[in-house]
Amino acid sequence: MPANRDQQPPKMASLFAAAGFGLLQATQHLCLHFNKEYPSITLLQSAPEYHVLSTENRSETAWATPTCIVSSADTSVLQDIVRLLTSQDVPFAVRSGGHMPSPLGANINTGVLISLSGLDGTTYHPEQGVVEVGTGLKWRDVYAYLDEYNVTVVGGRVLDVGVGGLILGGESN
Ligand SMILES: Cc1cc2nc3c(=O)[nH]c(=O)nc-3n(C[C@H](O)[C@H](O)[C@H](O)COP(=O)(O)OP(=O)(O)OC[C@H]3O[C@@H](n4cnc5c(N)ncnc54)[C@H](O)[C@@H]3O)c2cc1C
Repeated sequence: MPANRDQQPPKMASLFAAAGFGLLQATQHLCLHFNKEYPSITLLQSAPEYHVLSTENRSETAWATPTCIVSSADTSVLQDIVRLLTSQDVPFAVRSGGHMPSPLGANINTGVLISLSGLDGTTYHPEQGVVEVGTGLKWRDVYAYLDEYNVTVVGGRVLDVGVGGLILGGESN
């Protein structure tokens, strides 16, 4: 059974430890920081869209209550966010298509959910027979894009499955 991150002893973030911050406070502090620095890509729990996005994972077993959700189409912004999260030992989860049912596999309680849905680019290189696809896409989008070129790739059979999770392992297509 996966560990419930809420029940783990709180890891003290280096910067916050001196101030006596616990895990929840450190996470809330970083979420407020993201909301200030990147307001257009940060959703706090008070945001109207929060509920929809925190329960967007296909299976209810993977629904959770992240302290905040960030989603950007800019990989350099996502890199900065991950650097800050790791430097402060604040837990985070990464979600592409959200199809994996494992509890807290692609969602999190008391932590930051990074939704990769903004990484949805597609570029086909016909001369090489190669297609670049964003991790935030669903296979449905990839097949539809390649239909225009009368080619395809081996991806998920179920069209709602995400590119990211399947490429990292999935169920071997
Ligand atoms: C109904 C159903 C049908 C399925 N059909 C198929 C099928 O036809 N073929 C097949 O091979 N598999 C299939 N699967 C399995 C599926 O491939 C995996 O569950 C896969 O992990 C889902 O990918 P996702 O991006 O939607 O998942 P998510 O839930 O978003 O992610 C799954 C895991 O990968 C991690 N992850 C995702 N993207 C990244 C990233 N860019 N960087 C780092 N970590 C990342 C997440 O943190 C999470 O731990 C199916 C599953 C279900 C429930």
